[in-house]
Amino acid sequence: MEYKCTICGKPVNSNEAIVCSECGAPMHKECFDEEILSDATGTPLCPTCALRSAIDWADHILSLYAKSIKEPARSELRERLRNLATTLE
Ligand SMILES: [Zn+2]
Ligand SMILES: [Zn+2]
Repeated sequence: MEYKCTICGKPVNSNEAIVCSECGAPMHKECFDEEILSDATGTPLCPTCALRSAIDWADHILSLYAKSIKEPARSELRERLRNLATTLE
């Protein structure tokens, strides 16, 4: 089985790869952006797991505080969430 970087899709040497702490996906050191893809404790995540974790966090805030978000911010945030979803289509 080939070991491929989950970000660029090219082969990656297993002993040089950064490995996602959630799903185990390997990434090149050059492809992995530590500032964007590490969680709060500095643990490496692949883009999919980092995004999932960010959405879980947004979901949690919404479930607790959705009612306190007032217009016009409410419309703006709703529009931004819709636009985010279309980037994955
Ligand atoms: Zn790569
Ligand atoms: Zn992952």
